[in-house]
Amino acid sequence: MKRQLAILGSTGSIGTQALEVVSEHPDRFEVYALTANNQVDLLINQARKFMPDVVVIANEQKYPELKEALEDLPIKVWAGSDAIAQVVQAAPIDMVLTAMVGYAGLKPTVAAIKAGKAIALANKETLVVAGELITALAREHHVPILPVDSEHSAIFQCLNGAYDNPIEKILLTASGGPFREKSLEELACVTKEQALKHPNWHMGAKITIDSASMMNKGFEMIEAKWLFGVLPEQIQIVVHPQSVIHSMVQFEDGAVIAQLGIPDMKLPIAYAFSYPERMKSKEPRLDFRQYATLTFEEPDMRRFRNLAYAFDAVRKGGNMPCILNAANEIVVSAFLQDKIGFLQMSDIIEKTMEVTTFIPNPTYEDYVNTDTEARRLALQQVP
Ligand code: MG
Repeated sequence: MKRQLAILGSTGSIGTQALEVVSEHPDRFEVYALTANNQVDLLINQARKFMPDVVVIANEQKYPELKEALEDLPIKVWAGSDAIAQVVQAAPIDMVLTAMVGYAGLKPTVAAIKAGKAIALANKETLVVAGELITALAREHHVPILPVDSEHSAIFQCLNGAYDNPIEKILLTASGGPFREKSLEELACVTKEQALKHPNWHMGAKITIDSASMMNKGFEMIEAKWLFGVLPEQIQIVVHPQSVIHSMVQFEDGAVIAQLGIPDMKLPIAYAFSYPERMKSKEPRLDFRQYATLTFEEPDMRRFRNLAYAFDAVRKGGNMPCILNAANEIVVSAFLQDKIGFLQMSDIIEKTMEVTTFIPNPTYEDYVNTDTEARRLALQQVP
């Protein structure tokens, strides 16, 4: 029996690499559904190649174009964000890969878990916004959440064979991004073009900016807390510019287990798809002779304040991480439109966390309302 996949965000960086994994293992996987936000041309090509049962375009204005292009094929064509939350519930689907960007991942992930689908989680914002709700829901429905983020896949792999031995500490590695060595004065005037050049990873625009500002690592800390049930104090961020060690776990006897490899997202994607099996890969292997030195340093939370705000948000709990995420989505978009500078992103996030209504025990509806309120308050600060 082939595993039936729904790939949400199929035209993005993770989505396209996931489809490469599917192409390399046609005996194991079949694509049941593909969804995209805007990139209708690529979605059409993917649909013609993988022949899913359903495709969904989130942007409803692109529906006529998609519908017409696939008219000759027996593929159902839907549009809108409600349709994405609906398609994941289809009976034949075994696993849903959530690879869309940002807060948009929350609703379909909730729907997929309630429908009992295994989740391959690439959309970390889902756990940042509503980690408590999502993990409780997954337990209730006996649904596994398999991490696709490279660091979390590494931690997950390090925990193989750990039985019930408690984690003492997670060592979450970070490349440090393109601005690791820049002073505060220099950071004040970096451009989006510089921020979009990540030294080790090729990724979508939003996550590349998040990496440059280290918000990505803050989000990953929150993601790790929920995925592995540890306290923020048990997560140490280690800047490791070579990105060879993808993360580590320290146990109570002092042993540290690490997962290493070349920086390549296809491994974590494939591992989530085929877990607990490992599939043969044609990607290049790690060659230690090319890495004479591996280096490690402390992150600087004075220059990269977003990291401090992520720790503040997760310690405060409630809807605070949701506020953090909403503010971040607004400032990243404003930075990409040249409306604000690099350091202003952190200023606006800090202020939005102060002024948005705090809710200690939020429901799903509270998260939705918090997201709307925090976006509005963050947007007011964008000139
Ligand atoms: Mg990552």
